Amino acid sequence: MVKKGRKPTTGRKTTKLDIFEDPIKLKGRVLTLMRADFKKSPMYAAAKKSSFLGQAMYQCPLCMVMVYTGASDKNYEKLKLEHPKLQRGKESKMFNLDHIEPIVPYDRATKDMSLDELAPRVYCHEDNMQYICKECHKIKSAHESGLRKEERKKKKEKK
Ligand SMILES: [Zn+2]
Repeated sequence: MVKKGRKPTTGRKTTKLDIFEDPIKLKGRVLTLMRADFKKSPMYAAAKKSSFLGQAMYQCPLCMVMVYTGASDKNYEKLKLEHPKLQRGKESKMFNLDHIEPIVPYDRATKDMSLDELAPRVYCHEDNMQYICKECHKIKSAHESGLRKEERKKKKEKK
């Protein structure tokens, strides 16, 4: 039976208790928790604030795109006169917080790192954080997965 009008609260529901059999799955869950908890930290807030322009506007420090995240049509129209390229959208849909130096280094894999190693990389200093637009985040992520692929290739060749 399909329940209507109710969304699951989390997409990562564990139906099987596979965390007992698979320590990598357990690590993945803890890592997800740490990432969520980091969002409540002062470091996260500070990084977000550095992209905040005031009046519900954020600017991506990489591509300089400006987004009005407020609900007021009137304010948006007014701000658009000053900033003709101003876009509009929900903050959570338009921006991502990014670890400049990624949590998992390019030449490592999550499965080969301990939680002791991962924790301080999640809870990093605000200097390592940037609040960037989704487009820039996508580009950076694609670039990073390219680097990871190269590293894996290098390792294979060494063997
Ligand atoms: Zn951007």
